[in-house]
Amino acid sequence: MGKLFGTNGVRGIFSEDFTLEFIHDLILSISAYFKHGTILVGYDGRHSSPVISKIVCSTLNTAGLDCNLAGLVPTPCLEFATKNLGYDGGIMITASHNPPEYNGIKPVASDGVEISRDDEKKIEEIFFQKTWKHHYSKLGSTKSDSSIIQKYIDGIKSQVDVSNIKSRKFKVVLDLGNGAQSVTAIKLCEQLGCETITVNERIDGNFPGRGSEPTPNNLQELSEAVKKNKADLGIAFDGDGDRSIFCDNDGKILSGDKSALLLANYLLNKNPNSKVVTCINSSNLIDEIVSQTNSTLIRTKVGSVEVSRKMVSENALLGFEENGGFMYGKHNHVRDGGMALALALELLSHSNNTLSEELGLLPPSFTTKEKISCSKEDADRIISKLLDEFPDSDTTDGIKIIFDNKNWIMIRSSGTEPIIRIYGESDSQKNLETLMKQYMHKIQTLLVS
Ligand code: MG
Repeated sequence: MGKLFGTNGVRGIFSEDFTLEFIHDLILSISAYFKHGTILVGYDGRHSSPVISKIVCSTLNTAGLDCNLAGLVPTPCLEFATKNLGYDGGIMITASHNPPEYNGIKPVASDGVEISRDDEKKIEEIFFQKTWKHHYSKLGSTKSDSSIIQKYIDGIKSQVDVSNIKSRKFKVVLDLGNGAQSVTAIKLCEQLGCETITVNERIDGNFPGRGSEPTPNNLQELSEAVKKNKADLGIAFDGDGDRSIFCDNDGKILSGDKSALLLANYLLNKNPNSKVVTCINSSNLIDEIVSQTNSTLIRTKVGSVEVSRKMVSENALLGFEENGGFMYGKHNHVRDGGMALALALELLSHSNNTLSEELGLLPPSFTTKEKISCSKEDADRIISKLLDEFPDSDTTDGIKIIFDNKNWIMIRSSGTEPIIRIYGESDSQKNLETLMKQYMHKIQTLLVS
């Protein structure tokens, strides 16, 4: 059986491998999976997204399903609305943080979470066996729904102490990355009484500002803006607004791990005896925070679908990924940059410390990641050679070579791009740099051997 779904939905280069014909067949397969009902359709700010949305809606209608078009919204907004406004499913048109020429389709179940891996397989089976119906007795219709943005913002506000946040009149820098959070994050900050400074706020499918993926290396403008404006915090979102990278009041960019540990520490102290789900490649420091709050930690393979679906089945309070994906179960079991921002503001509103002082209270952790261009075949070959050398390694996803509980290296092939990713954690910055250098060199050598 062929494969369509990567780590996060079905993605490809628009008009190359992600053609209108392909999208049509894929949506008929998704329609056969949904069977009936009303589907909410939304899209990110990519140039091809509005065109694709027309194919998506008309194909759903051809298959007899009704749809409501939400327009340009962040992925977590579409997911929240699918769950809370009683839709039978959702379809988000996005390639998240991929380069501009990409686009993608992400089906959302009626519970507001990406469909499970098993359900992805069901859609692939329908697609490859072409078992979608060819003759439809009735056509569906398309309406638009422009109310979901405010309903989503109200949903976030219902999870935090709005009056306390408002009373602090925080100064926040938003790096919107020319992406979809431009339509929600600015309004959210306004409604939380913040003074907002924006960077890269114009939605542009070419992502001319700093690209569509926020990383600690491309957020200098955010960092400068935070320092210049003496802001309380800064935050950068990815193209579809589910991931967020924070910047502290000193202009220091935090890893996704660091901000997740900060929020987890705050939320688990508030809600002890909870469950936390995270991927195998995030910092081991979470173990400490979880045990101090009598909570439970569950590790999964890398991928937000794995974390989200595990959160649903375990009814977990929190989930996170090291790349800035943070999930708050009381709101929705998905990554949500807007929700993460509101939680960080609530944390600050209940503290007399600055963000950097709050970070200083956490035990130190040193994590990083790198990537190397590499085909899937080469990545598999490298991982299998490493496994020969380190047979006791964790193979939940790729290979995690564990030296002790504070020192490890993990190598896996990306599910969305032709690259191999290398993650590491160590007990000091110096040791982390040495470890990463050693393994980057090792992988480069294996790649050409
Ligand atoms: Mg994303």
